[in-house]
Amino acid sequence: MTQGVLQTYHEFLPITPATPMITLGEGNTPLVRSHRLAEQLGLDHLYFKLEGSNPTGSFKDRGMVMAVANAIENQSKTIICASTGNTSASAAAYGAHCNLSTVVLVPKGNVARGKIAQAIAYGANILVIKGNFDQALTMVRELTRRHPIALVNSVNPYRIEGQKTAAFEVADALGDAPDFLCIPVGNAGNITAYWKGFEEYQETEHTTHSPQMFGFQAEGSAPIVRGEIIENPETIASAIRIGNPASWKTALEARDESGGIIDAVTDEEILAAYKLLARLEGIFCEPASAASVAGMMKSVAKGLIPKDKKVVCVLTGSGLKDPDLANQIADIPLRELGTEIDDVERAVLSM
Ligand SMILES: *Cc1c(COP(=O)(O)O)cnc(C)c1O
Repeated sequence: MTQGVLQTYHEFLPITPATPMITLGEGNTPLVRSHRLAEQLGLDHLYFKLEGSNPTGSFKDRGMVMAVANAIENQSKTIICASTGNTSASAAAYGAHCNLSTVVLVPKGNVARGKIAQAIAYGANILVIKGNFDQALTMVRELTRRHPIALVNSVNPYRIEGQKTAAFEVADALGDAPDFLCIPVGNAGNITAYWKGFEEYQETEHTTHSPQMFGFQAEGSAPIVRGEIIENPETIASAIRIGNPASWKTALEARDESGGIIDAVTDEEILAAYKLLARLEGIFCEPASAASVAGMMKSVAKGLIPKDKKVVCVLTGSGLKDPDLANQIADIPLRELGTEIDDVERAVLSM
């Protein structure tokens, strides 16, 4: 039977005898060695952490299981979040699993279709806000100040605690920490969580060092890179379309303490990496996830990542979340044929 992250890493987590050890099978995701992209870039050790393999298709499940367990421990009956999509899908799933009422606020027009489908399927109460993610987050923070409702965004420290387990898994799989960890940055909870995890593993001598943290924002949505709040963030990568990251300060700490960088990549670079991952590696991730690979490629080209180092790119969510985008950028025409074997044969042989 699957253990889940609460059981597997309980000694590192804020778990008490009263914490319900819930799980939907989150964590224990694959760390896949790059095959063709590494060869193309001349890298000796490139790996992808496939967080799209979590129960709702993104890394959010690692933090959500911990946040929901804590909400139940505190006798909450309702959980709430603002979301660019994946947090709402995850909250809705764990809410359903634990018989909690789940309320999600999503920005109108900028949530991938698959993510909304999940929240609907799991039975969440969905409020579509005519505003952006940052405005929705401000509202849920205020609502949870006024009412005994549990906030399950990554401003909830239990989310960060759960998410740090991904760093443990990377180190466990490699036998030590990698040299570089490349990761997309939106609200900046995940870069914060990975750094916390790597630091704790080094302090407890599970590893000999910690990686340099390389975080990547989308060019039109890069407040940390620019050093100022972006009022109207824009990017095709909706999961990182955030103009005022809640974990801004801890993201800078992760960058500076690890000797890393936080840089921006364009939507064109993100889409190029998204296609390369699918076509060269057989890995279909969502556009926000591809920002880590776009950033890694840019950093290799600049000489910031030496080619003999161990590099892990975090692929935060599944490509199936955003089927519309995959269809939009498909440059392969779909050919329709009848049932004449000769026609089909000609077509097959001409490919
Ligand atoms: C939430 C999310 C991100 C951004 O993570 P932050 O913790 O907000 O920085 C990136 N990719 C995907 C797929 C996400 O769901």
